[in-house]
Amino acid sequence: MKLNELKVTNPYLALDPECYDKVSPDPLKNPHLIHANKDVADTLNIDEDELRTENFVKLLNGEYQPEGSDTFSMCYAGHQFGYFVPRLGDGRAINIGTIDKFHLQLKGAGMTEYSRNGDGRAVLRSSIREYLMSEAMNSLGIPTTLCLGLIGSEHNVRREKVETGAIVCRVSTSWVRFGTFEYYASQGMFKELEALADYVIEESFPHHIGRNDPYTMLFNDVVVITARLMAQWMSVGFNHGVMNTDNMSIAGLTIDYGPYAFLDDFRHEHICNHTDVHGRYSYTNQPAVAKWNLQALMKAFSPLTTIEKMEKSLVMYDKIYLRYLHYYMCKKLGLEGTVEGDPELIDDMYDMLEILHVDYTLFMRTLSHYEGDRKALLASGLYQEPMNEWLDRYDERIKDIDKTERKKQMLAANPKYVLKNYMLQEAIDAAEKGDFSVVDNLFKIAKNPFDEHKEFERWAGATPGEFKNRKLSCSS
Ligand code: AMP
Ligand code: MG
Repeated sequence: MKLNELKVTNPYLALDPECYDKVSPDPLKNPHLIHANKDVADTLNIDEDELRTENFVKLLNGEYQPEGSDTFSMCYAGHQFGYFVPRLGDGRAINIGTIDKFHLQLKGAGMTEYSRNGDGRAVLRSSIREYLMSEAMNSLGIPTTLCLGLIGSEHNVRREKVETGAIVCRVSTSWVRFGTFEYYASQGMFKELEALADYVIEESFPHHIGRNDPYTMLFNDVVVITARLMAQWMSVGFNHGVMNTDNMSIAGLTIDYGPYAFLDDFRHEHICNHTDVHGRYSYTNQPAVAKWNLQALMKAFSPLTTIEKMEKSLVMYDKIYLRYLHYYMCKKLGLEGTVEGDPELIDDMYDMLEILHVDYTLFMRTLSHYEGDRKALLASGLYQEPMNEWLDRYDERIKDIDKTERKKQMLAANPKYVLKNYMLQEAIDAAEKGDFSVVDNLFKIAKNPFDEHKEFERWAGATPGEFKNRKLSCSS
């Protein structure tokens, strides 16, 4: 489809007007295309040729609004670092319409009713990070929002220094957050809360339409998909960094990419967010914090169903999480079935990696090729013990598993490449000088992280020492 044939709808506007603000995008000065995502365009039925047109840049800059567009920002509340903030909302994201079941949103397109002290803008570096990372997560099979394209500009945006503004066009099947429910509940708007729950069921959980007790079912599903998402994050070594309830998707997607990180050396207590002084959102705390967030959601859901019923789901959370984690880790380790001692084997691997300062992604990928020669694995750690001892146990565990099958399974479960922060920084440094080739290259490996990509081998090694475990600020 040509861009000028696009037609969009706005199903969210059927909800109470208190829940959104109709606002128009405020375009950036002299915008230019940095990257377009062909596959996302294809999903939206947009012709590939259209991505090279001026109209595409105009769409992303909010200057061209498709037929049916009625732009708006969403209101929500949220627990930020544990403290309830009654009114937040999209301070810099403007919805430009829905195509099929995908909602398009411009992040960085100017101020909204919810901007508070912010300027409604997003700088180039944070936009590159969101653009690339959502693609990387999607290719790893982890539920996430996506991006259709990224534009830069000559628009000055003041942060610690003056930077330039950018816009990502984000695409998602749902933008509803735990905090959206918290908003209605805390305002005492129970009828609207019910309408929101109905909207979410239709949007993301249609199998519950017309069923008995749909809101209990909905809560139960959110518990399950959140537990699964946490298991997926933990299994690939992803640290989100700002798991406030307003950044938790009701549809179990990874949303709002900020100061996130992939682990370099394996570290349980890794904190990627510079402002997270006490490590509330550290890597290891993620499953527990997600449960805390589900508790906050349960309170918001209490006018819809009973706490007793929801608690039945919530008490299952730890078990569900551990089951999923075990499932993903067994795939990564090439283990068939479950044998007594497997959970200990996995836990002890984490400890061993941490003690030896081993790069997590590199270790898992190297282990995928392991056939008895330990040289490459041992070289990835500071010392030989306790890795040797752990490998003895691993050898014993895999001795009856078909070698070729195991290798195939492991190479499909352990990416050769993840987008570590030092790689993204390289793309940002080049982009800030007008060179987008590193963005292009990182996009290629983000898209196919399990492929060899011989030309990008230098990104498959351990993170260089000086770049390991750095923290990032929230400023974006
Ligand atoms: P985050 O934790 O990054 O998702 O952001 C928390 C809240 O602050 C959200 O409601 C954002 O929309 C808002 N926000 C962040 N940066 C800006 C900005 N530059 N201008 C306006 N609002 C912002
Ligand atoms: Mg957010």
